[in-house]
Amino acid sequence: ALQAGIVGLPNVGKSTLFNAVSNSAKAQASNYRFCTIEPNVGLVDVPDERLAKLAELVQPNRVVPTQIEIVDIAGLVRGASKGEGLGNKFLGNIREVDAIIHVIRCFEDENILREEGAINPVSDKEIIDTELQLKDLDSVEKKMQKTEKNAKFDVKAKAELEVLQRCKAHLEQGKSIRSLGLAPEERTAIADLFLLTEKPVLYVANVDEPSMHTGNKYSETLKAAVAEEGAEVIIMNNSIEAQISEMEEPEDKALFMDEYGMKEPALNRLIRSAYHLLNLQTYFTAGVQEVRAWTIGQGWKAPQAASVIHTDFEKGFIKAEVIGYDDYVQYGSESACRDAGRLRIEGKEYIVKDGDVMHFRFNV
Ligand code: GDP
Repeated sequence: ALQAGIVGLPNVGKSTLFNAVSNSAKAQASNYRFCTIEPNVGLVDVPDERLAKLAELVQPNRVVPTQIEIVDIAGLVRGASKGEGLGNKFLGNIREVDAIIHVIRCFEDENILREEGAINPVSDKEIIDTELQLKDLDSVEKKMQKTEKNAKFDVKAKAELEVLQRCKAHLEQGKSIRSLGLAPEERTAIADLFLLTEKPVLYVANVDEPSMHTGNKYSETLKAAVAEEGAEVIIMNNSIEAQISEMEEPEDKALFMDEYGMKEPALNRLIRSAYHLLNLQTYFTAGVQEVRAWTIGQGWKAPQAASVIHTDFEKGFIKAEVIGYDDYVQYGSESACRDAGRLRIEGKEYIVKDGDVMHFRFNV
């Protein structure tokens, strides 16, 4: 599964958020399938109303959502890029994730220490950004040294060097690579570096309970500060999320959420946003045994989509029977869709759409 990593300064509510994630992961695991969770990795269901709707129509023996992995990357502090507080190890962990969930403290609480003094979400964000940018600068400069020699006689190396120079200048201005606007072919010049500030990011504004629906002055300044990046800010209260996730009985959960005026855990919003941030989409399989959601990338063709069920499906792919999600819901069943001419036969070149209900035919 693709991974999103939780980062942020100490005492902003990262572990609290991760506990909420891993508690709900445990609850899910006991429901229908076993999953191994490392101490800092939680495998979590992606909430999807469409899956519930299909299950209602098909009444299968089991319903299996798709999942993403959330990794807790604790321990980032000012100076991490210079090796402070095991900084290099934690920065290395970020290199391995596909997207970043950056938790920012937007709550006041005099009992919870903030080393840098008064609450300041923008400064918190910048401290972390700076560490990631310095680390990237290091990677870029190292590659520049190697590329410079070749750039004298090799046109490809020369083009790469130009991209690296732009990256360097951008980072030196205190900006992140994701805002540099590199073209896809330019991005290949730095693909081998797995730059930290190139990864897509979303922000969690961890607010106190009275502002959990509205946000507060801190989350507002944060929003304004990231507007230019076009990044999403999710307003939530991590402590409440952790409490919800600890409750075992669905009725208790519902009652608790009702009391706080919540329709669903904010965690669901976060997970859905992380899923979109990763450019993922979903197709479904719907049979009496199982109704299930599967994760694929955008633009994937049918055989590649089939491979997430089983690698043999890709090799032996013959064709796919496809029903659009809206058609499936409108006509109510596969056979009704077939009768209405809403079941399409698609071949190897078909680009799977979000929500497609698929049935693969293949040779073994
Ligand atoms: P981390 O260092 O970023 O992992 O932070 P923790 O999740 O360990 O949280 C640090 C402290 O802040 C803990 O005592 C939490 O209970 C507390 N905390 C987390 N979220 C909130 C919140 O939304 N409001 C308040 N008042 N305290 C919180």
